[in-house]
Amino acid sequence: MDDLQPRAGLHYPRSTGEFQSWFATDSDCLDYLDWLRWPKGFVCPRCGNAGGWVVADGRYKCAACGARTSVTAGTLFDRRRTPLTVWFTACWMFATGKDGMSALSLQRALEIGSYPTAWAMLHRLRSVLVRPGRERLTGTVEVDETFIGGEEPGLRGGRARGKKVLTCIAVEVTPPRGRGRCRMAPLTDASATSLHAFVADHVEPGATVITDGWQGYRGLDKLGYVHDRRSQRAARARGEDPGELLPAVHRVASLIKRWLLGTHQGSVEPAHLPSYMNEYVFRFNRRRSRSRGLVFYRVLELAVAHDPVRYRDLVINPQPKTTPPTPPGRRGYPPTMDRPRAARPWRTADVE
Ligand SMILES: [Zn+2]
Repeated sequence: MDDLQPRAGLHYPRSTGEFQSWFATDSDCLDYLDWLRWPKGFVCPRCGNAGGWVVADGRYKCAACGARTSVTAGTLFDRRRTPLTVWFTACWMFATGKDGMSALSLQRALEIGSYPTAWAMLHRLRSVLVRPGRERLTGTVEVDETFIGGEEPGLRGGRARGKKVLTCIAVEVTPPRGRGRCRMAPLTDASATSLHAFVADHVEPGATVITDGWQGYRGLDKLGYVHDRRSQRAARARGEDPGELLPAVHRVASLIKRWLLGTHQGSVEPAHLPSYMNEYVFRFNRRRSRSRGLVFYRVLELAVAHDPVRYRDLVINPQPKTTPPTPPGRRGYPPTMDRPRAARPWRTADVE
């Protein structure tokens, strides 16, 4: 799809009404995916030969090697159980909603039987949003770290348990207060190694990188960046608000925190936070897109180019506990009570 400039009403629907009339059946959806995947006609994924024909089961048969391929094989929609019309509607809502949607609201809107199905659909869509080899940020870029996710005061019921995740955020800035694209990713720590790796991954060398005075940012100039280091202490001494040294990055940090609490009601596990960050960055970087239908087109375009995502890859194994379990002798009653443990074994659980 390199040379195609997609046009509204021709390559993607202009409105929800148009969406509904285009994609009334699964075979409508399949036709569209066929065109997105092979805009110039079928190309065999096995041997690379261009050309083949459709056989009785609806699959393509390669004219050279004879391999049979379905339109969805090897894409995000491989071996799906949910009808394509439901997938397309989910994708339309995901792409056209300004803030996206939670799994619960998707489940209700589409009357999907189970919450895990809705949850997995959204996670599959999220997983395609990072385009391989996408361009790094350029120009002038603010970079800072913040903590994202975790339990927020005021949320009841123990939702969103878990620790906050140290996250690095980079935002392009244009004077006086304009913001371009952003990138963000979790960090293992705020060391120079981690911060330098983040900047190298997300910012094009030659760019001006604005940071605060944290020592972990020292040495960026040796990596080919123009480093504009702004000391919080100096700002305080000048009587300025040190929180305003990096206004763009702080604005994006507060926006994603608000989005996680609003759209997702804070119910995001730390292990899944990176994929929510990807979704947020995708939305932020397309916030000025004139057509939401174009966003729908882009998501499907990425989905047909993406490898299948298995459910077991979405369900991340429980993380090992960060704090070691308390030794039995120190649980509950003091050992001096010398309680016969075996007599009431359930008690240990009760008193924790
Ligand atoms: Zn072939």
